[in-house]
Amino acid sequence: MTNELYKRCDLHVHTRLSVCARGEMQLASIISVSEKRGVRYLGITDHVDARVSPVILDEVRNELARIEKPIEVFVGCEADILSVGKHVVTEDMRSQVDFVMVSANHFHDRAVAQPKGSSLEEVGRHFFEMFRYACSLEFADVIAHPLFVFPNTFDPTCLYTIKEHDLAEAIELARANKIAMEISPRALARDQLEFRLRFLSMCKSAGIKFSIGSDAHSLESVGRTAVLAPIIEKVGITDEDIWLPSK
Ligand SMILES: [Zn+2]
Ligand SMILES: [Zn+2]
Repeated sequence: MTNELYKRCDLHVHTRLSVCARGEMQLASIISVSEKRGVRYLGITDHVDARVSPVILDEVRNELARIEKPIEVFVGCEADILSVGKHVVTEDMRSQVDFVMVSANHFHDRAVAQPKGSSLEEVGRHFFEMFRYACSLEFADVIAHPLFVFPNTFDPTCLYTIKEHDLAEAIELARANKIAMEISPRALARDQLEFRLRFLSMCKSAGIKFSIGSDAHSLESVGRTAVLAPIIEKVGITDEDIWLPSK
């Protein structure tokens, strides 16, 4: 039983086509840095959201076709869930990518439905319902930073108001739909680490696979997945638990 595959995966990287990423995030540079850092499986996942259309993914594919690839490169996406019942993933888009990663917690984007009230329970409920909806999407391959509370958005203690059996039910839904949960360096955030470890352990027990990504927006962060060691070890994730896309 080996336990090193996560260090060879980076399935969440943004190119300069994502407005939040640096201009240095050119495909050729990303691939070269990834190779140097020992990445074997690279996933390009630019944002598709309320403002950015899936056309952006054509650009990624066209550019990728023109450059040399010494490592395995997959074209994915990070597609927003805008509210419960509404996402930006089109049929056309699904047929063009190697994998579909969805985000259900980009609440810093005001185009994404906000919690109805500001109490911890209401905010926790909203995080959960958006997450549960993501788990119900049969076409989704990965849920990006599941149930992560981004800095300067909400109080992360809202996560502790989510009921254990609700969480278990959503995780079961994701398992039935063969959806992997992402582990990125965001999962190391200390202010929600206790919740994260519990959540990931529940996923592991349920037989959920894990997608490993850096969520890099700069070259410095590309391939930096070895930092996940404390989580990988605590949750007991082995190579068999790691999800990989297929072309
Ligand atoms: Zn994201
Ligand atoms: Zn991202």
